[in-house]
Amino acid sequence: RTAICLFTRNLRVHDNPVLRHAARADRVVPVFVFDEGVIRSDYMRPNRTAFLLDCLRDLKHALSELGAGLVVRTGNPAAEVTRLADEVDASEVHIAADVTGFAHAREDSLRKALDARDRTLVVHDAVVTAHAPGHLVPTGNDHFAVFSPYFRRWAETPLRRTVDVPESLRMPKVRVGKLPSRSELCPGETSPDIAKGGESRARELVDEWFDDGIAGYDSGNDDLAADATSRLSPYLHFGCLSPVELVERAGNSEPERAFVRQLAWRDFHHQVLAARPRAAQHDYRPRGDRWREDEESFRAWCEGRTGIPIVDAGMRQLAREGWMHNRTRMITSSFLTKTLGIDWRLGARYFLDLLVDGDIANNNMNWQWTAGTGTDTRPYRVLNPIRQAERYDPNGDYVRRYVPELKELPAKALHDPRRIDPEDLERLGYPAPLVDVDAANARFRAAKVGTSRVS
Ligand code: FAD
Repeated sequence: RTAICLFTRNLRVHDNPVLRHAARADRVVPVFVFDEGVIRSDYMRPNRTAFLLDCLRDLKHALSELGAGLVVRTGNPAAEVTRLADEVDASEVHIAADVTGFAHAREDSLRKALDARDRTLVVHDAVVTAHAPGHLVPTGNDHFAVFSPYFRRWAETPLRRTVDVPESLRMPKVRVGKLPSRSELCPGETSPDIAKGGESRARELVDEWFDDGIAGYDSGNDDLAADATSRLSPYLHFGCLSPVELVERAGNSEPERAFVRQLAWRDFHHQVLAARPRAAQHDYRPRGDRWREDEESFRAWCEGRTGIPIVDAGMRQLAREGWMHNRTRMITSSFLTKTLGIDWRLGARYFLDLLVDGDIANNNMNWQWTAGTGTDTRPYRVLNPIRQAERYDPNGDYVRRYVPELKELPAKALHDPRRIDPEDLERLGYPAPLVDVDAANARFRAAKVGTSRVS
């Protein structure tokens, strides 16, 4: 019996039920297909592509240590995998369940193509997330719309058991194929300081995190200058790490519980998107008013020159590292959608252009959450970026790191452009603020824009 293990967003050998189950066959063929639809789409961006290639090189190495290799194909996944199944006469193909409309369509067409040849598609749950979307549901609905009750259920439901790395793999003779280069897949510059991808790097980071980094997580995760979060998000996005394994490894201390709660947020957004794939683009809860069109302000926001230092620091961190701290993701997205009134989809698109961890579930659902069109239970809340900066970057070191033109200014003046003499701003080469934040936020509240409940 021969089985195919189709890798998608589970690029690891540890705790990988897809690989573990496929490896029960006499022979296994690990494969990754570069989907031509994705390659042609604007989802394929330099930062994520570079990280993905790191992951695949690392996976290929891990598989060769186990006695197999990684077959690489480019094209339509259903067609490529069916052809490969014919070639090696595989009776079954194993794949991880995933949540986007795109992933559902891929799974359906693969199942149809395999069915037609009497081959079986085996879909494994709880590989991409810790708890499978759809398994935890409230009475009368197919998903949880509010986080707190979801989290209660999530925390009391036992996880699946982690699985071992197969001891060895036997792969039949088959043309392996080469990994394409980054420029073949997606030309263009990457951000200068992106993280290195791959399961090996992820496991080093996890060890450091649990040994040391996590200790102050509950109190320090919002401290922008301390940069005290795990930075594991890109590895979770590409599945270099198993969320089940992370939850299992976390103990019961306050910081560990706080960390696990964030992993539950990740599952939460995935189960919303799985139940409502349209929420990737359509407001989850309809918003009554129209968005403002303001190309100039949008460009200033993208380029980190809004004249609001904490917003600019966040946007410049994104451009430099392909990653942004969660607190500044919240500040910059609230600023775009509520203070400036610009459509969240434009912001989400720009984030996806650069984020190495960029994924539709976490990105677009978090954008909906901050825009007040999503699952936030307080959609009228609007952040004041200046007060947020004073609270979460009290010494101004985060802003100084990313907005060096302001580095000589004392913390108080640094965060609040009203305290900086306009002539000084000009001399420092830093733009005047795009808006008066207090006035714009007051307008947002007064308009009582918001949401109506989904029926
Ligand atoms: P940690 O604080 O160490 O948290 C551990 C893990 O928990 C993260 O790696 C992540 O997988 C998960 N997590 C933490 N916070 C959230 C959250 N709010 N929602 C979902 N999962 C969470 N995260 C992404 O992975 N991809 C995205 O594209 C993305 N876009 C975002 C866009 C906006 C507007 C906002 C407000 C948040 C977004 N997030 C996204 C969530 C969060 O900002 C990042 O997961 C987090 O900053 C990653 O850093 P970390 O790994 O150090 O997180």
